[in-house]
Amino acid sequence: MNINLSGKRALVTGSSNGIGQAIAIQLAECGAKVAVTYRSDEEGGKETVEAVAKAGGEAFLCRLDVGDEGQIESVYEAMDKRWGGVDLVVSNAGIDGKREVLWEIEGEDWMKVIEVNLLGTFHVARRALKRMVKQGDGVFLTVSSVHELVPWAGHTAYTATKAACGMMIRSLALELGDSGVRVLSFAPGAIKTDINEDVWSDAGKLADLKKKVPMNRMGTVEEMAKAVAVLLSDAASYQTGTTIYADGGMSAYPSFSQGG
Ligand code: BGC
Repeated sequence: MNINLSGKRALVTGSSNGIGQAIAIQLAECGAKVAVTYRSDEEGGKETVEAVAKAGGEAFLCRLDVGDEGQIESVYEAMDKRWGGVDLVVSNAGIDGKREVLWEIEGEDWMKVIEVNLLGTFHVARRALKRMVKQGDGVFLTVSSVHELVPWAGHTAYTATKAACGMMIRSLALELGDSGVRVLSFAPGAIKTDINEDVWSDAGKLADLKKKVPMNRMGTVEEMAKAVAVLLSDAASYQTGTTIYADGGMSAYPSFSQGG
């Protein structure tokens, strides 16, 4: 079975590095046209566009702060103008935020995570779904986290946003019904990217992390990208309103590997 996305018009937010970059390249390899966005890493965004071209695909680059609904509308308008619409959206832009207990963190730092991860997902989804419902076709996928389910000390804002997005997706599936539009939450575990470099670059922290993963290793961005391509394709045509974990078993209570 080949995953064929040819002719599909895709947006991947936060695709200048990490999981988003790998997804953009993978979608292009499957035949999709890709709108690539970055917030601060313009070089990374250009790198993604070049990699898409190398894969024989078509892409363009936009600066996008997902906290700003006006900017999101402009990206969709650019897609309308070039390609006549949007079929696939991967809402990937997100931040972990500062690691700090809730009663010590500055309100501003806590709210920043809400603004990017939750409000950003809302804005990106809202403007996409207006278009997709009208055309009776499309897939909206939000890149969530294993922390949609697994608590994480020092990251109350992050876990709250991921859990909220998971529930938003489930409720959205009810709203969308038989409109032809599917919505999914995709939840990676510990994937080796810049976001967790402080962990994988430290032998002690990495050993601790591996203990939290039954498969005993971090995941790769390519593994995430392949799974997302499948979920966006017709191979997953009956999947909507649910969360798909890609976490090496991290969400399966690894502390119960023994004892209990
Ligand atoms: C976070 C990473 C973390 C991973 C596993 C992800 O959602 O962004 O920083 O390593 O979860 O804890």
